[in-house]
Amino acid sequence: MKKTAQKQRQPRRTPAEPVVQPIPGESLTSWIGALAQQQDLDIKPLLRELHLDRLGGLSGAEMRLSDPVVRRMEKLTGVDAERLHAMTLARYAGNALPHLPLFSSDGVAVQQWHKGAWSHHSQARWCPKCLRGNDGPRWLLRWKLPWSFACVDHGVYVVTECQACCDTVQFRQDAPPERTCENWTVEGEWIYSLGEPCGFPLVMCQPVPVSDDSVLALQTRINAWLDGSPTHEDRQLVALAAVLIPLVSPSMVRRGDPLLRYAVRSPRGTSQRQRKGRRPWNDSLRVAAAVYAADQLLRRRYSASEVAEWIADLRLLDHRRTPWRMDMSELAYGPSLRPNPFVEPLVHRGLITLGGWL
Ligand SMILES: [Zn+2]
Ligand SMILES: [Zn+2]
Repeated sequence: MKKTAQKQRQPRRTPAEPVVQPIPGESLTSWIGALAQQQDLDIKPLLRELHLDRLGGLSGAEMRLSDPVVRRMEKLTGVDAERLHAMTLARYAGNALPHLPLFSSDGVAVQQWHKGAWSHHSQARWCPKCLRGNDGPRWLLRWKLPWSFACVDHGVYVVTECQACCDTVQFRQDAPPERTCENWTVEGEWIYSLGEPCGFPLVMCQPVPVSDDSVLALQTRINAWLDGSPTHEDRQLVALAAVLIPLVSPSMVRRGDPLLRYAVRSPRGTSQRQRKGRRPWNDSLRVAAAVYAADQLLRRRYSASEVAEWIADLRLLDHRRTPWRMDMSELAYGPSLRPNPFVEPLVHRGLITLGGWL
């Protein structure tokens, strides 16, 4: 009774039972968004109540949750520590992401971590069919990693652009994922001098079906690596794919899904001069192509130096002569690059040059 009276006086801030449960693989920001919606709470007071407004905010928390915050969240939501930690990127530290710096306050270490970390901090990629699930639009944590190029459940490539404005979709800082595209459009600007957000619902995007089952099988193996249960072969696959992402060219994916060949025809994102934050692993189809090419190569049981030779030959065939300049910190901390048997022969052949601009 007292609670009801309180509710009328000031808006409720603490989640009430039953609390919406995280779905398997969900990201922390997605679950927080679902929680706010289910409980009809504003996001800011909810974050304050869960102590998620501290040290790096919600995006910092999605990286790693501190023990006091976990205890607080356990108490208020009933979701246990293990499931809370599973919603943070820390679960990938040591395989798909570099080991996290010991202290989040160590600026240099955090900066280095970001340089070596292949993750989409704010750029969205998603499977619209997954978002259409019964639990409402729920976003998976592994979509934050470039290694998610396809959805195995729905047999489609992940979507990386809004299909109404044809641009990438950025997450807002410290907020749950949007439901509609918020890209500013210039439509009508000339007549009314008014722009407006695109507004296209992200669940309405049409994903491209994967026409080659082996691409889905490869995504399953990558997922095993992400979930921490890879075989030696899975590890080799990822190590080779990691170096192939900037180097893959059309001849290397001759037999695969034609879409992959098309995707690597343009050296988009691999030009060193026009990087502007765009990295070769931003392109999900390029990553898929690299994984496919890596698998084809490993099936031939070549040695690491034979692999380098093969890559050099096929790149020549495609008139690709510019070496990939790899950042030293990427070499040291990048995913599966420590130690990566394929790097040295590629450096030796001049296909990768090592630079350092920390
Ligand atoms: Zn899906
Ligand atoms: Zn849009």
